[in-house]
Amino acid sequence: MPIWRLWVSQTPITEKIKMDKQSVNYFQTSIGGKIYQIPVQCFPGLDGWVYLVLVEDENENYRVLIDSGSGFGCANQDLEKGLQVASQLYGEEISLASLTHVLITHGHIDHFGGMSYIRPRTPARVGIHELDVRNLTNYEERLTIISQRLDEFLIEAGLSPDRRKSVIDLYMSTKSLHRSIKVDFTYDSIGMQLGPFKILHVPGHCAGQVVIQLHDVLFSGDHVLEKTTPHQSPEHLTLYTGLGHYLESLEHMMRWVNGVKLTLGGHEGPMYDLGGRVSEIRTMHRQRLKRVVELLSQPHTIEEISFQLFGEVHGYNVLLALEEAGAHVEYLYQRGVLEIHNLEDLERGSQPVAIYYHCL
Ligand SMILES: [Zn+2]
Ligand SMILES: [Zn+2]
Repeated sequence: MPIWRLWVSQTPITEKIKMDKQSVNYFQTSIGGKIYQIPVQCFPGLDGWVYLVLVEDENENYRVLIDSGSGFGCANQDLEKGLQVASQLYGEEISLASLTHVLITHGHIDHFGGMSYIRPRTPARVGIHELDVRNLTNYEERLTIISQRLDEFLIEAGLSPDRRKSVIDLYMSTKSLHRSIKVDFTYDSIGMQLGPFKILHVPGHCAGQVVIQLHDVLFSGDHVLEKTTPHQSPEHLTLYTGLGHYLESLEHMMRWVNGVKLTLGGHEGPMYDLGGRVSEIRTMHRQRLKRVVELLSQPHTIEEISFQLFGEVHGYNVLLALEEAGAHVEYLYQRGVLEIHNLEDLERGSQPVAIYYHCL
């Protein structure tokens, strides 16, 4: 029984339509842009979407892929199958070789990892925001730099050497997933617009995160997702990330978007009320900040805060939980809400040590 089945909706995009992880979903923008939402498995337990967008503008034919999948496991096959299904729906062959552009929403591996497969198979011009260019062009260098910063962060967060090693090993295991590729343009270099695609830089979840608007549809990458509150990590690890930038970017986006009726994220379902979803995300962060302040009535490390917020977690989630807790602690510390409880330990030596924070 084939897992791929054709499913097409001519339903106006303002109405909710049924989603199925194993089908290519079709959407149409208010002025005829065709969007094929292709499901890809990014990693075990993490599904995502690659979008094929076909639109004509001033006699130019745009055949654009938004994001590339992770390149891991069956992700590349998922993408190829999805393109075949989209071709049947469209009534014309569309392959990697016939694309005009690939637009990457941000420099996380589940969104650009497929590029080492795609790049040699397409003449399409590849774009990303300038703050994430190095993630694609100097992948190995970036991993080395970040793993060193990560090690310092984990010491300061209070992890034992064994736990630290297992987190770093897991982080470095992604090294084999991608090799550096060439990028053709940055969004800044083309004035944040490609034909009918308007692009806005929304740093926070990732330094070079963008959202892309086509007519009344917004592609939100991981900036806004239907259910999950997008992951945050401390700016100490990567400049231009951090909760402060993220919350500002949510506001910036809401002032910028114009007439958006449908938002399509890099994961999860479509969103028909962008403002409502953004306010839910803001509320969640406010509550989490409040909880961290309560917990820090007593001195704690980031590892202890992470445990209080998320309980016992395993595998890659250990790092995600620590980064999330770290982003909230950093936000409060930067704004003068917290202070360091064991300053004398930090003053004693030149090596990083576990930091205990408490609320003023
Ligand atoms: Zn991401
Ligand atoms: Zn993602």
